[in-house]
Amino acid sequence: MKLTDNYNRIHDYVRISLIDKCNLNCIYCNPLNTLVKYESNKSILSYEELFRLIHILVKDLEVKKIRFTGGEPLIRKDIMKFFEMIYPLKNKYDFEMGITTNGTHLLDKLELLRLYGIELLNISLDTLNKSKFISITGKDLFDETISAINKAIETGFKSLKINMVVIKNVNDDELLSFIEYFKSFPISLRFIEYMPFTGNGWNDSKFLSWNEMKSEIIKKYNLIEIENDGKISKDYLIENAQLKIGFISSISDHFCDSCNRLRITAKGEIKTCLFSKPEKQSLKSLLSNQSITDDEIAEFIQSSLKTKWFNHPDVNELSKLNQNNMMSIGG
Ligand code: SF4
Repeated sequence: MKLTDNYNRIHDYVRISLIDKCNLNCIYCNPLNTLVKYESNKSILSYEELFRLIHILVKDLEVKKIRFTGGEPLIRKDIMKFFEMIYPLKNKYDFEMGITTNGTHLLDKLELLRLYGIELLNISLDTLNKSKFISITGKDLFDETISAINKAIETGFKSLKINMVVIKNVNDDELLSFIEYFKSFPISLRFIEYMPFTGNGWNDSKFLSWNEMKSEIIKKYNLIEIENDGKISKDYLIENAQLKIGFISSISDHFCDSCNRLRITAKGEIKTCLFSKPEKQSLKSLLSNQSITDDEIAEFIQSSLKTKWFNHPDVNELSKLNQNNMMSIGG
């Protein structure tokens, strides 16, 4: 059975948060002064429950891509044992696995991650300036992150993307220096519009649209448009360079009509949209109960998807919603 919503969108991409905590306090995601209270991680899905969930997704629901997010997934205890545990599923079923990480705990794990079948690696980096890194993230971990990025480039992944959330008067002056730094590598650089999430202080004056970013970049670089097959980013090649760049325009030009993503929080709640409230019943109680069959769990996930809206509310409404924090869902 393919996971299909009421608008006939097939959902073959699932993002699973492995932990609802992060070691950084990025200003757009997990600011230090946040009003959001995080719960203890006692209630998060165990590795056994996650294994069962992933097995159901790839065996019964024809999911083709799973990305692990957080918080910061690589700070979860025994995380490499978990990847080793799920690797046999990757050999048995035809699906891709990826991770989104802030890169601070990545350096010594890169080779094992490749060995355990992680092919898609997204690393967040919002500045190339060490002191600005501290002011954006609250932590002095720039060197760890940049070393991991440089080694990830050498290690070679099927897809390696550097994600930069662009905020006016914070890091919008670094668009060109990011391209300059990465232009000789066969990777992707993605410029992400700043989005409103609970407690992140979003307002119009900090927002820069993808069109404004692009106008800045074409002052120096020739961009060659890449055909976009309903993908979420607007992609370009940089002329005479190896680098691809992409813009994620969630706010100024949403791409909900081609949405194929389903999210599952660390506690096992289904989130049908990045901006929607999690479904009331968590998968945790189902996954831990061996008398409930895999088919019943698959049916439950399918029926939850039927509540998905067609597109997210407009930005004014989004900024008033008090129902999601990016840290627990990993974007
Ligand atoms: S905002 Fe929601 S519906 Fe739109 S693309 Fe993102 S997850 Fe999908």
